[in-house]
Amino acid sequence: MNVATQRAGWSRLPLRAAAFVVLTCVTILGVSGWREWAARDAVLKGAETEMANVARSLTQHAEDSLDLLDSGVVGTVSRLEMDGTDSATITKLRNLLEVRKKAMQRVHSLAVIDDQGNWLTSPGTIASTLSDDAFFRYHQLSPKREAYVGRPVKSLLDGEWVVTLSRRFNKPDGSFAGVMLATISSRYLSHFYEQFEIGRNSSVSLMYGDGTIIARNPNNEKFVGRSVADTSLFRDASLQGPSGTYHFKSSLDGVERVSFFKRSGRYPLVLLATVDKDELLAPWRAAAISRMLFVLALVMLIAIIGAVLVRHLQRGQRMAAALVEKEAHFRLLAEGSSDMVTRIGLDERLRYVSPSSVRVVGWRAAQLIGTPALAGIHAEDLPQVRAIVDAMKRGETEEARVTYRNTHRKNGEVWLESNMRVTRKDNGLVDGVVAISRDITEQKKLETRLETLAIEDSLTGLANRRGFDERLREEWARAYRERSSLALLMIDVDHFKSYNDEYGHPAGDACLRVVAQTIAAEMHRAGDQAARYGGEEFAVLLPNTDAAGCARIGERLRKAIREAGLVHSTNRPSGCVTASFGGAACRPALERTAGVGTLVEAADQALYAAKDAGRDRLMMAGEVARLLPKASGQ
Ligand code: GH3
Ligand code: MG
Ligand code: MG
Repeated sequence: MNVATQRAGWSRLPLRAAAFVVLTCVTILGVSGWREWAARDAVLKGAETEMANVARSLTQHAEDSLDLLDSGVVGTVSRLEMDGTDSATITKLRNLLEVRKKAMQRVHSLAVIDDQGNWLTSPGTIASTLSDDAFFRYHQLSPKREAYVGRPVKSLLDGEWVVTLSRRFNKPDGSFAGVMLATISSRYLSHFYEQFEIGRNSSVSLMYGDGTIIARNPNNEKFVGRSVADTSLFRDASLQGPSGTYHFKSSLDGVERVSFFKRSGRYPLVLLATVDKDELLAPWRAAAISRMLFVLALVMLIAIIGAVLVRHLQRGQRMAAALVEKEAHFRLLAEGSSDMVTRIGLDERLRYVSPSSVRVVGWRAAQLIGTPALAGIHAEDLPQVRAIVDAMKRGETEEARVTYRNTHRKNGEVWLESNMRVTRKDNGLVDGVVAISRDITEQKKLETRLETLAIEDSLTGLANRRGFDERLREEWARAYRERSSLALLMIDVDHFKSYNDEYGHPAGDACLRVVAQTIAAEMHRAGDQAARYGGEEFAVLLPNTDAAGCARIGERLRKAIREAGLVHSTNRPSGCVTASFGGAACRPALERTAGVGTLVEAADQALYAAKDAGRDRLMMAGEVARLLPKASGQ
């Protein structure tokens, strides 16, 4: 994977994280919703199964009840056909039927009706005939001998709603003789259905094939006899099968219901067991709402945490990008610079070295990283650098500039100038030092050269007047401190003007160089300083030297110049180059009022005295304090 692809992938990370959080939330919500829906389905399926069982059992019950009735009716019909309907037979039958009725709780009434519709076995006098009743007309008109179950009707006896089961009986010639009727009361059935109370606003209805309600629990009285023929149960082609599940809004009480219907195979009966959907689902709904609230809270928590994480990612990424940019700038600066940039850890080892180290110290960056940062520093400069680094590590110094000598891999030794600055961690603690070092060897050489030029005489190589004056002040102060004596010799070449005149100015210069070399060669002690004081005048400073020592050295120098063998024919009587010497010595600590000038003046005066006395000689001023009044008195 290249860097660009990696960076692109990295930049899309917050988006991906956000997508992941959203996906997680949607998945949790989806799965939870789906589970709740499945739980709801399971509740409905359970209710449907329960309703199916109820519907099947109660249909069976209705059929059994009618079968039971029919068995009695069949027996009576055969008796009537054998014995006829004379009053003796009817009286016997009436008693028998009374007994039967009492024995069977579900029988509401048992009646024998003649061909005119009169109730032969009526317990009392019933005024009206049953000739207009549907079942009667059916049997009157149909020769069929099967049992006939009729629409629910109100009983003539007590006005109760009943279901009729009837069979025709014939005269011996086969003509219509009457009807044997048995009825079951709606109330009995309704009471029976009460046992199947399944709660949750359930209902059980037994209907006639045309949609008339035979019995219902609850509220039997209210609904019995009403027709529901216009409902989809009786209209929809899909619901005309023997049994099935049926979801509907009740036209009777306006309640959404889950139901199961069962049509009897043998009688025109339909049984419908229902349960209130809202009530059925209420426990599930309550549980589902609390579960979904919990899931929602969880999802919101995930979403909030996710949002916070995504924001952190975005911020982190922005910071990383800024850091990369910063680092790029830094590298550009550090690596493009001709100066060597180094970073030094608290253990004083190099953590970073820029490539220009090759130029500055001769080593490659990789060779230096991890090595001690102060390893190459010259032993004399090391204490100074170490003191600065230590102060920086302690946090006492923020930045510093230091110049020191350092080893170079090829060039031996170089002068480096380092600008150092403390680096700190976020918590403010010092974690290292950044140093920018440059090679200043050339500059140093130039400085040294300039310094030399400032105090050196170009013709003779001796110190010049300025160098001599500086040195004189230093030695005076030292002698004062150390209570030692300091001596000075002033030297002037004799008749030098005529030397120039005779041999030319360049020869004069060469002569001055020889004189200077001669003087320098006689300087045996390290502290002795010879200088060209001006023109053909020289000065020699002799620390720790008294008047006698000064005179001795002066005399030695005078002889040495004379013996240098420089011909100067007009300088009589020697015929060679000679010089006159004025010497003076003093103890600065003993002479409070005298200064540097007094010593020079004393030596100068001695020199004049030597000139006056005939040249090529040394004159000592003696101790300055004593000499001065004498000199001023001359
Ligand atoms: P005396 O000191 O013995 O009294 O005589 P003098 O001739 O040496 O005296 P003076 O100080 O008058 O002359 C000094 C001469 O030294 C003058 C000048 O031409 C010469 N001189 C001074 N500086 C230089 C120099 O740098 N090169 C040369 N060639 N001559 C110099
Ligand atoms: Mg002179
Ligand atoms: Mg002279």
